[in-house]
Amino acid sequence: MEAPEPLSAEFFCASCRTPFQNSFPLDAAGRCALCRSGLRGFDAAYSFGAYEGVLRELIHLYKYGKVKTLARPLSGLLAQALPRDEAFDATVPVPLYWRRRLQRGFNQAELLARGLARRTGIPVVKALGRVRPTPTQAGLSNSARRQNVTTAFRSRSVQGQRILLIDDVMTTGATATACALALKQAGARRVALLTVARVDRRMEGWRLTADHSMVKGKV
Ligand SMILES: [Zn+2]
Repeated sequence: MEAPEPLSAEFFCASCRTPFQNSFPLDAAGRCALCRSGLRGFDAAYSFGAYEGVLRELIHLYKYGKVKTLARPLSGLLAQALPRDEAFDATVPVPLYWRRRLQRGFNQAELLARGLARRTGIPVVKALGRVRPTPTQAGLSNSARRQNVTTAFRSRSVQGQRILLIDDVMTTGATATACALALKQAGARRVALLTVARVDRRMEGWRLTADHSMVKGKV
């Protein structure tokens, strides 16, 4: 297998790093409409690469093929995507509902956070819990996904902390937004999302609407 390539984009939101085909969706401060309107629960989003090719295969092997040893190289990619100029008090993995955790045998986000902790020294704090199960996201429409997760999380106190939220893949950002809102409600000062990969829909002409739905059309 070739080495996975980092995500590259000529135009991306300065805050959530969503890549765009051109600069039209971005305001003078470089932010997309969603960040401008405050509808993102998180303050920034970082990813190593696009969810395609080798990187997608690796994540599938890790998550569904249950090749847990891949947590080590994948957390290395997380470390590469981590901004050097930002400090964090804790990393918080996106939790799985206990039944899903039992089925899979591990929480892929937690192992990644632990791998990152070994490299960076940022402690892992399991602050988030899933209040209720959410059906598998795959196959759901984007607005259904959002509905699915909005009230699914609660957080214990993270008063004044700068949190690095960890997940394997960012799709629409709805899960991360729900987690970030719970963390902010629990006192987090700042929440940045760090994922190994993110779905890059630039070439398909998708755009993200204010309610976190993805629709086809001009960006
Ligand atoms: Zn944005």
